[in-house]
Amino acid sequence: MSSTSFKQNTAPVIPVITRFAPSPTGLLHLGHAYSALTAYHLARDLNGDFLLRLENIDSSRCHPNYEQHIIRDLKWLGIDWSDPPRRQSDHMADYRDALEVLRHRGLIYPCFCTRKEIQDEIRRAAHAPHGPEGYLYPGTCRTLSPAAQKQKIAEGYRPAWRLHMDEALAQVGTTLFWQDYEQGDIKAQPAIMGDVVLARKETPTSYHLSCTVDDHQQNITHVVRGDDLFHAAHLHRLLQHLLGLKTPLYYHHRLLLNEQGKRYAKRDKGITLQSLREKGHTPKDIQALIAAARKSPGNDEYP
Ligand code: GLU
Repeated sequence: MSSTSFKQNTAPVIPVITRFAPSPTGLLHLGHAYSALTAYHLARDLNGDFLLRLENIDSSRCHPNYEQHIIRDLKWLGIDWSDPPRRQSDHMADYRDALEVLRHRGLIYPCFCTRKEIQDEIRRAAHAPHGPEGYLYPGTCRTLSPAAQKQKIAEGYRPAWRLHMDEALAQVGTTLFWQDYEQGDIKAQPAIMGDVVLARKETPTSYHLSCTVDDHQQNITHVVRGDDLFHAAHLHRLLQHLLGLKTPLYYHHRLLLNEQGKRYAKRDKGITLQSLREKGHTPKDIQALIAAARKSPGNDEYP
């Protein structure tokens, strides 16, 4: 055997791993089924694995009952996963460690603002910049002195921890890119998110931080999710760089819309998988409903 063919034969093959990462705050609906099936089929088509992650960091909105419903509905659809579902609430120490890395690099600062104070500040500003998740944080607490921060904490105020975006970008010092399955190389523009909250007052992490850490720890190679989260990849790419984490490929699929052209929501009880099942629909019917929804006028962007 020549050395060249030996090298080719032993090249490391990275197994494809996709995931579905619902928050257990309600029952799954047709939109979730579409997303889960897309991730599941992509893994199967590429001889890979599919994983389930329960994004349950928000203890005020998430409920273990919904976790059971999610598992039951996915199994009913014919979806299975190789590892036990990852529950984010079991990994708080990992998110805390990631936050500590950022703290040591001087990239986070405590924010004591209430929602109302932020809104008032934005109202006062003539041209408050807007990002994909709403108005950007106006930076009120960014310049608090260490003494003032200590004082606030001593007074019993619990802070949220925000990313110091300008400092983070200065430390990176180069342009980052990520790959979108459909659009190819994308220049990361995390600044569109501003000084985003990475650890909330009531939960010592956030969607952005825990999702980025989890995708790394679960060795996700293909992140499949709705294109309502396209913007999140800009920030996740920055966090990956700052924390030394792997960068997956992203596939942001179009959202399935209802007949009124609106995205499905957890409050639309009629299209939950549970209610469809109770009405006698089969998993095959769900696939047909999804195919029909993709062709309906509200979804005319679908190929
Ligand atoms: N937990 C998020 C949701 O339910 C999904 C986040 C993701 O897939 O990155 O919208």
